[in-house]
Amino acid sequence: MTNCPVCKMEVEENKARANSEYKGQAYYFCCKACKKKFDETPDKYIIDKK
Ligand SMILES: [Zn+2]
Repeated sequence: MTNCPVCKMEVEENKARANSEYKGQAYYFCCKACKKKFDETPDKYIIDKK
């Protein structure tokens, strides 16, 4: 289980409606609209977990 980086909703990786890869990291989205938003401005949605 992970979270949609755009709206923070829980998403199951194997049931995600959309996914994207950015800087070698995979992201999963609850819907295609969220993927679209992410793809436009990924840095806005990435939480740096360092
Ligand atoms: Zn979402």
